[in-house]
Amino acid sequence: MFRGKSPDIQNAMLLMIVQNLPVAVFAKDVKDGYRFIMWNHMAEELFGLKSADLMGKNDYDFFAKEEADFFRQTDEHVMASGKVVDVAEEPITTPRGTWWGHTIKVPIYDEKGQPSILLGITEDISVKREAEANLKAKLEAEEANQAKSEFLANMSHELRTPLNSIIGMGRLMFNTPLNSEQRVMLQTVLHSSDLLLKTIDDILDLSKIEAKQVVLESIPLDVPKAFAQVVDALLPVASQKELALSLSVARAGMPMVCGDPTRLARILNNLISNAVKYTMEGGINVALDWRELNGERVELIAQVQDTGIGIADDKQAIIFQAFSQADSSTTRKYGGTGLGLAITRQLVEMMGGTIGVKSTPGQGSNFWFRIPFALTENVSNIGSTAVAYEGEGTADPAEMRILVAEDNPLNQLFMEKMLEGFGFKHVHLANNGQQALEAFLQSDYDLILMDCHMPEKNGYDVAIAIREMEKNTRRRVPIIAMTANVLIGERTKCLESGMDEYIGKPIDLERFRRILSRWVKLSPLNVAQTSPTPTDAPSPLDLPMLHTYTHGDKEKEFQLLSLFFEQLEEVLRMLHENCIDGYSKEWFDACHLLKGSASNVGAQGLYALCEEGQRYLHESARVRMKLIEQVEHEIATIREFLSASGIAHAA
Ligand code: ADP
Repeated sequence: MFRGKSPDIQNAMLLMIVQNLPVAVFAKDVKDGYRFIMWNHMAEELFGLKSADLMGKNDYDFFAKEEADFFRQTDEHVMASGKVVDVAEEPITTPRGTWWGHTIKVPIYDEKGQPSILLGITEDISVKREAEANLKAKLEAEEANQAKSEFLANMSHELRTPLNSIIGMGRLMFNTPLNSEQRVMLQTVLHSSDLLLKTIDDILDLSKIEAKQVVLESIPLDVPKAFAQVVDALLPVASQKELALSLSVARAGMPMVCGDPTRLARILNNLISNAVKYTMEGGINVALDWRELNGERVELIAQVQDTGIGIADDKQAIIFQAFSQADSSTTRKYGGTGLGLAITRQLVEMMGGTIGVKSTPGQGSNFWFRIPFALTENVSNIGSTAVAYEGEGTADPAEMRILVAEDNPLNQLFMEKMLEGFGFKHVHLANNGQQALEAFLQSDYDLILMDCHMPEKNGYDVAIAIREMEKNTRRRVPIIAMTANVLIGERTKCLESGMDEYIGKPIDLERFRRILSRWVKLSPLNVAQTSPTPTDAPSPLDLPMLHTYTHGDKEKEFQLLSLFFEQLEEVLRMLHENCIDGYSKEWFDACHLLKGSASNVGAQGLYALCEEGQRYLHESARVRMKLIEQVEHEIATIREFLSASGIAHAA
């Protein structure tokens, strides 16, 4: 074995190797009651037993009977079978404690073939085992949490849809002749639905944050102005309870920063709303201060102080956890879900800030938060807290060739107008997936906007096909998905089919602008600033929203509305045709089509009716007829409204 060395030297070397291996090695004499005849250094360490104490003794002298029985059984099995046995893991109890061992047992026979020695090799796998278990537990917990968040998000979405139509219908009903008793009852219905919607939205938001699906925006933000807007908006709520609500700005001149205005407003709104909710008399003061952190960043320091019921010391930490409230009697008295502060804290922390509260029960609370922001001039320096999509693109919109794949003619028109507003000059349309693919093959586009649900070939498949074809070229055209499906997971689906971004329908101009500016250099000025707020629109049609598309151009307005009414006629015909008993996919599709058009012009009432209609997949002709009548009535209302507003339309 060791060339040129005497057997004595060879033995000595072997012994040294065995003694110093980093695993425990031992040998038992099978013919002498499995007594130990060898025990290396590592065995001494692992088992906490000295070699000298062990020699001439067997397992029963050191281990509990059951454990020794188990060792002996394995030993006998190894010797009888003549096979090497691998005991992957077993607990071993020793003077230095119980640990997990991995042991290999090898039978050795004498010259006559008689069982002679059992050789054992053991390593301590406790640490490895624990690490594996921890990793597994961690993965499982993450998976479970992800599943929970996704479930909650899907669930809230499913709840939101019917609720929206309850509210939509309720509002419509409000404009019909009602006696005073019915009016009060309806008001309660609407009020409760609003509360329910708010709760669902909170759950949806929190689960989105937890599923890490919320991406903060980073756009120019005037903090004092944002604060003033939130305070202004909440003044009526405070004055209803006869509470004072004031804003004190400690130091003027806070510079413009980069941040997420909507989320900042949300944080402040939550804190002030709570202050109003939990204060019976006195008032609320919002204090705004800031300091420079270094040349590039400033820190916002804000406080919301109230003279309300206060919060006990031991509850001050838990109220920032989801579903936690200071006191269960609070819930009964004031309502609420305990989600508001959890969302608030998450948002503050996402922005890299901190939040806390000082409070004395019976005297009031002081919620404070601090958030660091990058200055606008240093926008390129903003780091990990915000995603700076803004302004990355350099392409000139006037030069770019854009392909819009969209089957709904009204949507097509809207897209065209919207893109025109952004300064695009070369916009091409494809009416379905097949056409989109052909167009892609025929010419070079700089950007593709892809509706996900189209006849012939859907948007996902088109994107997959495009990416496949691009494999041999060095080009990769950006594709932005457009879909009315806002379920969580939709974004992933779009990205997985090779698209680069995703925007929900109806398209929010501001959001759309930010997405586009990943590729395109857009000036913030060439689009209208107002984004539509359909839920607040009391009119049957959202005129301000229409104006954002047409920029007040009468001709375009006329075009749009003509197309809208044309489509209405077509859909009405389809509805009448499918006003039959039982299952009808055509009925469902017609409602869907109309819903899309309604959302384009901000026709809330009509939209709610279409959603209602989509649930009549299996209804009777009689029920469907009722809905058609309502749709016709709503259309008439829209026409009247347009005439009254002096807007020409192809009625
Ligand atoms: P909700 O108000 O829906 O219960 P929040 O997460 O907003 O949920 O608040 C959690 C709890 O914190 C509340 O239930 C209340 O007990 C306590 N709380 C929050 N703000 C105040 C405040 N300004 N004054 C007193 N208690 C408050």
